[in-house]
Amino acid sequence: MQTRHWDPAQVLPLIIMAVLVSSVTLEVFYLILTTTGDGQLPLLVVALYLLFNVVGNMVKFVLSNSTIKGVFLEHGSLGQGWVYCYSCQTHIPPRCHHCFNCNVCVLRRDHHCTLLGKCVGYSNYRYFFCALLSGLVALLLATILNAEIFMDLLHEGFTLHSLFLLIMPWMMFLTGQVSGSAFIVAFVADTCVVGFLFCLAFFTLHALILYRGSTTREWFGGHERDYDHGWKKNVKNFLGERWYLVWLSPWIQSRLTGDGINFEPKDLSSALSSKNVTQ
Ligand SMILES: [Zn+2]
Ligand SMILES: [Zn+2]
Repeated sequence: MQTRHWDPAQVLPLIIMAVLVSSVTLEVFYLILTTTGDGQLPLLVVALYLLFNVVGNMVKFVLSNSTIKGVFLEHGSLGQGWVYCYSCQTHIPPRCHHCFNCNVCVLRRDHHCTLLGKCVGYSNYRYFFCALLSGLVALLLATILNAEIFMDLLHEGFTLHSLFLLIMPWMMFLTGQVSGSAFIVAFVADTCVVGFLFCLAFFTLHALILYRGSTTREWFGGHERDYDHGWKKNVKNFLGERWYLVWLSPWIQSRLTGDGINFEPKDLSSALSSKNVTQ
C-alpha cells in the first residue's frame, strides 16, 4: 500500500493557515454572539456558510493533483510547444512547467501558492479561485464586525498606546505593554484587515487573468492572449463546465474541459510564440 509522504515545506504553511483561519473564526463568532443584537442568527448562518466554503475549497485544492504524476504523457506525437524537463526526465506539454518547490512539473501551471504549500494548476485552479473569492467576502464581513473595536477605541480616545497596539501588537505584547487578551483581539483584527486587502489584490489580479484565459506566468510574460477565446469560454476552461455554480460550493461537480495536456491556441501565430514561454 502506498503511503503519502508529507513534506515539511507543504505541511508548515497549512499549519500556519489553520491557526489563522481558526483564530479569525473564533473571534468573529465571539463578536457575533456578544455584540450583535437581533441579527445574530442570519450573521451566524452567513459566517458558517463562508467558513464552509473557504475551508472546503482549501481542502479540495490541497487534495487535487495538477502534477504530471500518474499522467500518461508520451502518447501520440509530441506536438508544437512540447519541451523536455531535465528534472522530471520527460517531455512535457505546452503550459506545463516545473516547480522547484513541489519538485515536479505541473499541468497548466499558474504559480506556487506559498500560503497553501502547493502549485495552482489545471486541476485545482477552480478551488484556488473560489477560496480566494469566499475568503475575500469572509474577511470583508470580519473586518466590518471588527470595525466596532476600532470605533470603541476612537470613542475612548485614540491614544499612542492604542495606536501602537493596532499597528504592532506583537511588539506591544513581547515588551509587556498589553495583556494577552488585548494582544489577541488586536492581532486578529489586524489579520482580518491585512487578509482582506491581500485577498482583494489577488482576486482582482486573477479575475483579470481569468478574463483573458491565461496563467499568471503567461500574463507577466506578455502572452496573456495566446489562449484567449472570449471571457465565457476562458472561464469555462478554468472553472469547468458549470463555472456559474462553482462559487456556491466546492462539492458542486464541474467537469473540466480538455485534458490538461492539449490546449487550443488562439491562432497559429500565437501558438508559435507560446513556444518561447515554455522555457
Ligand atoms: Zn519537471
Ligand atoms: Zn509548486
